[in-house]
Amino acid sequence: MGDLSEHFNHKDFICRCNDCRGQEFKIHLGLVGVLEELGGHFRKPVKIVQGFRCEAENDREEKSKKSFHTFGKAVHIIMRDVSPKQIIEFLRTLDEVRGIGLNTDDNTIHIDTRREDRQEWVREGKNRYSPMSTEKKKQYGLI
Ligand SMILES: [Zn+2]
Repeated sequence: MGDLSEHFNHKDFICRCNDCRGQEFKIHLGLVGVLEELGGHFRKPVKIVQGFRCEAENDREEKSKKSFHTFGKAVHIIMRDVSPKQIIEFLRTLDEVRGIGLNTDDNTIHIDTRREDRQEWVREGKNRYSPMSTEKKKQYGLI
């Protein structure tokens, strides 16, 4: 049992940069619920590669925009033995999930629980975002 939910601890979500040393922390509990549903569906652990980002870390990662990571509403995850295609297909069935992105450099999936309408994209390289078109889906084995 974690301190946030059955499988998750706040430490899974903290910023990993050296400036804040994880002292700053926000997490949206709706997002934790999504991750519990995801792990439960596939009966596999969900590994959080990146969760909350402090402002300094966000500036280093994405200079232009204030990302949902700074609100504790976004994570990058990976699951052993479950493909990005399977993960993304399941995420589409969850209404709370509004941002779905494939990070092609490390094969992690971005999930966020923003309030706005759903968006899907692929990120190729550090800051190159494109809509998840049919062409991109084919290129990355998502269909
Ligand atoms: Zn930090």
